[in-house]
Amino acid sequence: MDENCIFCKIVNGVIPSKKIYEDEAMIAFFDIKPMARVHLLIVPKLHLETLKDCDGSHQALLGKMLLLAPVLAKEHGLSGFKTLINTGREGGQEVFHLHMHVFGGGLTGS
Ligand code: AMP
Ligand code: ZN
Repeated sequence: MDENCIFCKIVNGVIPSKKIYEDEAMIAFFDIKPMARVHLLIVPKLHLETLKDCDGSHQALLGKMLLLAPVLAKEHGLSGFKTLINTGREGGQEVFHLHMHVFGGGLTGS
């Protein structure tokens, strides 16, 4: 847990979220500023700042994160969806705790 990390705080229940999934390794919740009718974030519980900080030891974790996307998308009525992992400031990353966006049902443009 990183004391200053907003997603670690969500993982630990220190700040609330609209949680839709949780297991021993992963949590998923609705994005607070949705850019699509359905906009989910899939977040490993382990604090890794970016995809650049992953190595072979995180292979199973990354696989879990990917495989959760179609399951949660289906649960939210999506037959298709987009996924996005922003990496680093230049990559548009704002929260430095690895996460994957899942969008579907039409972008809202905000
Ligand atoms: P990124 O640019 O990939 O780092 O995206 C971070 C995402 O986290 C943005 O889409 C934010 O709207 C979202 N976000 C930030 N704080 C929260 C929060 N407390 N609960 C849910 N989503 C959040
Ligand atoms: Zn964190």
